[in-house]
Amino acid sequence: MTCFICETCGTQYKASAQAPAACPICEDDRQYVGWEGQHWTTLDALRKTHTVRIADDHGLLGLDVTPAFAIPQRALLLPTDAGNILWECLSLVTDEAVDALTAHGGVDRIIISHPHFYA
Ligand SMILES: [Zn+2]
Repeated sequence: MTCFICETCGTQYKASAQAPAACPICEDDRQYVGWEGQHWTTLDALRKTHTVRIADDHGLLGLDVTPAFAIPQRALLLPTDAGNILWECLSLVTDEAVDALTAHGGVDRIIISHPHFYA
C-alpha cells in the first residue's frame, strides 16, 4: 500500500494499492489538471529528487520544497502565546525539517488556509 501524492497540487491521499483515478482537489473548478493529465508520486520518490529548504523567513522559520513542487507550498512556524503554529504544510517531510521544527520548540497546532495544504 502506498500513499500517493498528486504532482499538480501536492495533496497526499490515504494508502492504496494503486494510484487514485483522479485528484478531487485538481478536478475542482478552482484548480486544474495539467495538460499531460493526472500524475502521481510518492513520499519516497519525492525524497530522491527534492529536499526541504529551511531558512529564516523575516524572523520566522520557513520551510519549502526545493526544487519547487506542486503549487508550491511554503510553511512558516509561528511562535504565539498559544504555542507554536505551523502555518501551512508541505508534501515532503524530511528528518532535517522535523529536527528544525523540534529545535524551535515543536509544533502545537497546524493551520491550513487552502485545500491544497491538506497533504
Ligand atoms: Zn491534485
